[in-house]
Amino acid sequence: MRRISILGATGSIGQSTIDLIRRDPDVYDVVALTGGCNAQLLAKDAKDLRAEVAVVDSADCYAELKDLLVGTGIEAACGAAAIADAARRPADWIMSAIVGAAGLPPGMAALEQGTTLALANKESLVTAGPLLMQTARTHGATILPVDSEHSAVFQALAGEDIAAVERIVITASGGAFRDWPLDRLKTATLAEASSHPNWAMGQRITIDSASMFNKALELIETKEFFGIDPDRIEAIVHPESLIHALVGFNDGALMAHVGPPDMRHAIGYALHWPDRKHLPVARLDLAQIGALTFRAPDEARWPALRLAREVMAAGGLMGVVFNAAKEAALDAFIAGRIGFMDMSGLVADALAKLSAQGGQHNAPLDLDTIMDIDRLTRLRVAESLENRG
Ligand code: NAD
Ligand code: MG
Repeated sequence: MRRISILGATGSIGQSTIDLIRRDPDVYDVVALTGGCNAQLLAKDAKDLRAEVAVVDSADCYAELKDLLVGTGIEAACGAAAIADAARRPADWIMSAIVGAAGLPPGMAALEQGTTLALANKESLVTAGPLLMQTARTHGATILPVDSEHSAVFQALAGEDIAAVERIVITASGGAFRDWPLDRLKTATLAEASSHPNWAMGQRITIDSASMFNKALELIETKEFFGIDPDRIEAIVHPESLIHALVGFNDGALMAHVGPPDMRHAIGYALHWPDRKHLPVARLDLAQIGALTFRAPDEARWPALRLAREVMAAGGLMGVVFNAAKEAALDAFIAGRIGFMDMSGLVADALAKLSAQGGQHNAPLDLDTIMDIDRLTRLRVAESLENRG
């Protein structure tokens, strides 16, 4: 039996992970499931999968969770510290699928027990790439990428020498607004930004796909995970979302990873790695698909891409500022306080205001420093929002 835990079990990635493990009930022994505040779903899955412990992130839903689990023998807990404790429970494989920087501390706790961490939470790498990789090395842990582009690159690199890689190309669908006239973008509503042409995902990453903040995070994620120079990383718009990434080698070959837009592929690859096992994803009919198309990303439409380049060039802890400012700007857009195109302005402003904190290259590589800069950035963005009225 493989002992597994899922952090962010009630979300889109968490539920796809559960879908896969439910198909092989005799293989997996579920240790911990954590969620936000959806106590009903968390309790149902914890009971179905006979988890040891279920944890919600907020006291608001703790009583409900406890009630739902009475008499089951499943422990209930709540709060960020309890989520990190759940990640410390011995497990062979842990899915990190909390959304946002909140996923970093439990991801770190998981690595410290030397486990295999399937990493969907891209914010961990953006904010703390060097710390995460170093922690994995120190504790003999393995990190496997779950973001579809990074899983695709990882697969294309199997058996290859990273020194022979000339470039990595990650694809972007272009999100909800790729074909909108530019001047209409500032009027985009929350509902319009929350629907994705190809992928079914959580709301936040769906909006980030429309703004390309998602791709911006993924450029940085590529740099941190594969240790490759930012000049060698490209993003290309590929509306069909069938090629997830390409790796270009020094002999001119481009290895592309092609597959249906279904996260269960990347999750399943990480679950079964280093083997491949049958996965319940659609098989592509290439003749029916007919054509795959590509276009260069337009930075006027997607300023987030330019900001990611600035962040990578600056290095230090600018990724922390970038991610925290992006999360705060996204909160403000979801709350109806700012327009869709105001998000990138707010993030650019935060990068300028926090360049001293983010630009530190000799800051201690620890979680406290990172979380302090994260908090400070959110505070500065809140002040900017207040000043806008
Ligand atoms: P989601 O919003 O559907 O789910 C997020 C999960 O985290 C839920 O269980 C939620 O309850 C929990 N959560 C939210 N805030 C929390 C907090 N403060 N503390 C503890 N738990 C909290 O998100 P998702 O789409 O499943 O994405 C999860 C992560 O995977 C994100 O980092 C995202 O960028 C990444 N990712 C998602 C996809 C996708 O297809 N959905 C693809 C690639 C990468
Ligand atoms: Mg992705």
